[in-house]
Amino acid sequence: MVAGLEYPEEQTMKCAVCKHGETRPGTVSVTLERRGATLVFREVPALVCDNCGEAYHEEKVATQLMQQAEKAVRGGVEIDVAVCRGIPTT
Ligand SMILES: [Zn+2]
Repeated sequence: MVAGLEYPEEQTMKCAVCKHGETRPGTVSVTLERRGATLVFREVPALVCDNCGEAYHEEKVATQLMQQAEKAVRGGVEIDVAVCRGIPTT
């Protein structure tokens, strides 16, 4: 689809949820619900807490997911599984 988005190692930060773990670059599955439709995005780039597993998405990643969800719902999808191997960086 598009070029992958990679997080530099030094972008780790303390987890805001458990306050103990540190976030590391990884991928997670994200489930979004829109007007009764369920969309699952797999392999979404995120910073994941190594302690509690909380995932943090960059603003542009979250926005992209929302847009894709909206588009799918408008297209009449009720349940869809999207494999997302990277988000556009522009
Ligand atoms: Zn945590």
